[in-house]
Amino acid sequence: MIRVYALSCGWLDFEKNLFFPAVAPGQNIVAPVSSYLIVHEKGRLLFDTGIHCDALVDPVGRLGRRIASLFSIRSDAGEGVVGQLAALGLQPDDIRYVVNSHFHFDHCGCNASFPRAQFLVQRAELAIARAEPKRYDQKDWDLPLDYREIDGEHDVFGDGTVVLLPTPGHTAGHQSLWIRAGTGAQFVLTGDACYTREHLEKTILPQGTFDAAQMTHSFSVLRGLRDRQGVQLLYGHDAEQWNTLPQAPRPLV
Ligand SMILES: [Zn+2]
Ligand SMILES: [Zn+2]
Repeated sequence: MIRVYALSCGWLDFEKNLFFPAVAPGQNIVAPVSSYLIVHEKGRLLFDTGIHCDALVDPVGRLGRRIASLFSIRSDAGEGVVGQLAALGLQPDDIRYVVNSHFHFDHCGCNASFPRAQFLVQRAELAIARAEPKRYDQKDWDLPLDYREIDGEHDVFGDGTVVLLPTPGHTAGHQSLWIRAGTGAQFVLTGDACYTREHLEKTILPQGTFDAAQMTHSFSVLRGLRDRQGVQLLYGHDAEQWNTLPQAPRPLV
């Protein structure tokens, strides 16, 4: 029996054009930042760690001038991964595995809070982060943590219930997470492989895409899981969907 919790990690406010390049500049959207907790009998797993809390008080200092100029961050009391875990009666050390979908600031900003966890990251993501240090913020990921490099698909607990799924294109080594929760419920946490339902339905490639062909292929993999396997896709930054999901401390399933 697996439990899944959707953890609210605040909101990003930015030019809609970043997500939807056909939209003229001058319109903003607000998108959720999320993390997910998966409770398996062999351990607890966290999918992404959100934005570092310092970014709220000193955005330029934490995120750098470029990111801070593109995104405004909003967060209510109790949001953020550590606070959301606390509301479930959990400490960071209760987490056995952390999965980073990729190394953008809104997905691995609180990695440092989990020094005892093992981090599951695609080899291609770590390789490009090390080779091109300007691509990601080293404060977020380049830490004395137990990074385990994964090549492609990986069955985390060995029973097919929680499986890493490579979905490159947004970044070089992006990965999503396929969860078979039992009682027929299946989810894929897409991360930024797909920001919103509209991106998938209209095959919209956002600004900053690392590899358009790979991203288009990852879209088709996600569509296939949805259409042929009955998987529910939980998109990386879809406010409309997020607002319909039960959020922690209530379980999603
Ligand atoms: Zn991203
Ligand atoms: Zn993101």
